[in-house]
Amino acid sequence: MDKLIPSLPTPLQELKNEVIKNAGVQLYIKRDDLIHPTVSGNKWRKLKYNLMDARLGMLNTLLTFGGAYSNHLYATAAAGNAIGLQTIGVVRGEDFKERMTPTLRFCEEQNMILHFVSRQDYRLRNDPEYLNQLSRQFNFPYLIPEGGSSHLALKGIAEMTAEVDKELGFRPDYYAVAAGTGGTAAGILSSGNNVLAFSALKGGDFLKNDIMNLIHDNNVIGKLDLQTDYHFSGYGKWTPQLIDFILRFKNEFDIQLEQIYTAKMFYGLFDLISKNYFTPGTIIVAVHTGGLQGLTDEARQL
Ligand SMILES: *Cc1c(COP(=O)(O)O)cnc(C)c1O
Repeated sequence: MDKLIPSLPTPLQELKNEVIKNAGVQLYIKRDDLIHPTVSGNKWRKLKYNLMDARLGMLNTLLTFGGAYSNHLYATAAAGNAIGLQTIGVVRGEDFKERMTPTLRFCEEQNMILHFVSRQDYRLRNDPEYLNQLSRQFNFPYLIPEGGSSHLALKGIAEMTAEVDKELGFRPDYYAVAAGTGGTAAGILSSGNNVLAFSALKGGDFLKNDIMNLIHDNNVIGKLDLQTDYHFSGYGKWTPQLIDFILRFKNEFDIQLEQIYTAKMFYGLFDLISKNYFTPGTIIVAVHTGGLQGLTDEARQL
């Protein structure tokens, strides 16, 4: 992982304000956004053992999946380029070929081959037959599922909780984390910790199954509390209220959030804290999973 050297352990900082104080809880932020300049947050953690596994198998090409704004495609392209692996990104939506997003342009700059498929085909991304077909077409690359959320990803995420154990000196009552595919939440649960997961998608109830399906050893897992009401009308969508929250958070704590995942999680978390959802004395570690490459300009001011 020579050229992918991360800044580890990432800092754990306590956040303090009136809302937190009035509820009698303690809130910490795990700064995984500081892990690496381009391979951010949970994507670095999730890729680590996948990349090592690919190298162990002497495979020099990675193939993975994502949308046109995917932090995972961005991270995979940068990581592959840094360590000399060819990357192939299967992109959801053929129309994006004609209107490349900044994320996709970055991926190409990092020498990723973009393979655009229809939304219909993209739905087959976990179908064994479709994967076989892609595998043959691209000469048997190392396959990484959408979001990097393979079972190897969980091991990388569990290293984050091990860092927190050391930094805090004990286990927090909850980890708060944003959920897209649920791989990060699954990794924390599989380390035996409790998770408060905030769905970044509308109708996120399906995540419960997806998260549980990623976990193999069901005996050591923590409790999952899935929050599905803080999606701000859906994946990749946001409101002026959320942008305002990002600006206020930056003002108050000098930490930048983005509008796809981390702001939705922190908004929901502060909402729950202010409604006395947690008993006094509860200790929460909220994970800043990064993703700042996708920050919208309107939330970048100040
Ligand atoms: C991908 C991503 C998530 C979601 O992680 P999952 O493991 O897919 O649930 C959360 N936050 C950020 C910043 C991300 O890029």
